Amino acid sequence: MIDLQEIWQDTLSELLKEPSINAVAYSIWIEKLTPVCLKNNVLVLLAPSSNAGDTVRKSYAPIIKKSLLKTKPSLLDIEVITEEELPLFVETSDIIHENELVVSSASKQKTPSPFISRYTFDNFVVGESNKLAFYAAKSVAEKPGSNDGYLNLNPLFIYGGVGLGKTHLLHSIGNYITKHFPSLKIVYMPTETLANEYFAALEKTSSDKNAYRNFIDRYKNVDVLMFDDVQFLKKKIGLQDAIFHIFNTLYQSGKQIILSSDRPPKEIETIEDRLCSRFEGGLLADISMPNLDMRIAIIRKKMMMEKVAVSDEVVYYLAENIDTNVRELEGALLKVILYSQLINKPFPDVQTAREALRVNETIKKEDIDSSDIINAVCTYYRIGKTDIISKKKTKDISDARMVAIYLVCDLLSIPLVNIGQIFGGRDHTTIIHARDKIINGLKDNKQLALQVKDIRSLLNVS
Ligand code: ADP
Ligand code: MG
Repeated sequence: MIDLQEIWQDTLSELLKEPSINAVAYSIWIEKLTPVCLKNNVLVLLAPSSNAGDTVRKSYAPIIKKSLLKTKPSLLDIEVITEEELPLFVETSDIIHENELVVSSASKQKTPSPFISRYTFDNFVVGESNKLAFYAAKSVAEKPGSNDGYLNLNPLFIYGGVGLGKTHLLHSIGNYITKHFPSLKIVYMPTETLANEYFAALEKTSSDKNAYRNFIDRYKNVDVLMFDDVQFLKKKIGLQDAIFHIFNTLYQSGKQIILSSDRPPKEIETIEDRLCSRFEGGLLADISMPNLDMRIAIIRKKMMMEKVAVSDEVVYYLAENIDTNVRELEGALLKVILYSQLINKPFPDVQTAREALRVNETIKKEDIDSSDIINAVCTYYRIGKTDIISKKKTKDISDARMVAIYLVCDLLSIPLVNIGQIFGGRDHTTIIHARDKIINGLKDNKQLALQVKDIRSLLNVS
């Protein structure tokens, strides 16, 4: 049997050797693809959005294919799809599976795994601040629902501040169980989504008598149930009733329950007492901010995973200065790397790191000029600076150009006519048109909004 994950990981390692792939493009476009199945020896990859799909097809498909063929010469090509197309592929790949080779856990389950693949126990740095939560999570993953009489790990309740690794541990449990006990049914739910589903089910009950039942059954027929961020549990009695009910059913039949929250059960004002005492009935494990040594270890781990490097001084500088949470620590590392790429300094020193992180000193708008903006946009979309001011009309170039024009209009106070000149002598009406197109796009195109936000953060403006 062919392991899709393995093929894809090998392909990614090959890709990273390609000089034309930089860390920005890699992390924005390529790393986010998920292998779905093999269809007629073509590797089908799922893109997180249609925009991302377009970009990969247009700019990266040939190079991904090249790396794929290096790792697996028997394969022919790649195909990039988006979520809407997924059902088609999952079905066809199943048929293929019956009479030939392939299966991925994604196609077996009909939907791709809900667990982020890099959130594993191996990728988690363990230390004083999180070892109880880590070992409890690991032991629950190894023996879900078991109660050895010494230590009751059901439910396991992990709590700690934002960005300290709760979701990472829950996904690690999910990934571990999916791999080692594929027959177990696991449900992972952010509590906010759970509440939305509940209210949707209630609304439907007038037309569909089974809606509420179906909601409950979905959670009652599982082996492992995880609710992430239960501090968001609303005060609605009905919802808490439902959860109480689900909880009891699972608990009594020895199924594993895992919960996370930003604080211990007693401090969540919105939950009822009876639910609170259920949540407290197993092991409460807290996670706090890692100390300096652990922060250094975390940065080193991330560098290995992302296949990037900064000097020891920079590692130390980041670890010492970012002591809020791990998510910010990761963000800072990425920012330093993006920034050093942007200014063509692949090996950032502390000075560069400091510049990259002057986020909060909110640079005055006068500090950046149109060439900074054009640079940032070109780096982000991997487009040549001459292309962006040229007359070329291919979609990727003209999209990037519009974003650059929008940002110049937004961030600098320059007359439109001059902006037209900056962009290769364009008419001011063209500038207005481009600017307004982006303004409108930002209202309902989430992907575009995200891209503009990324570019702003490259420029250190918000
Ligand atoms: P939370 O759910 O507690 O808000 P997350 O699990 O989303 O936090 O973690 C935020 C980021 O920090 C994730 O990218 C996660 O991989 C990383 N992270 C947190 N703790 C660790 C750790 N001990 N080792 C490695 N990465 C960590
Ligand atoms: Mg979380």
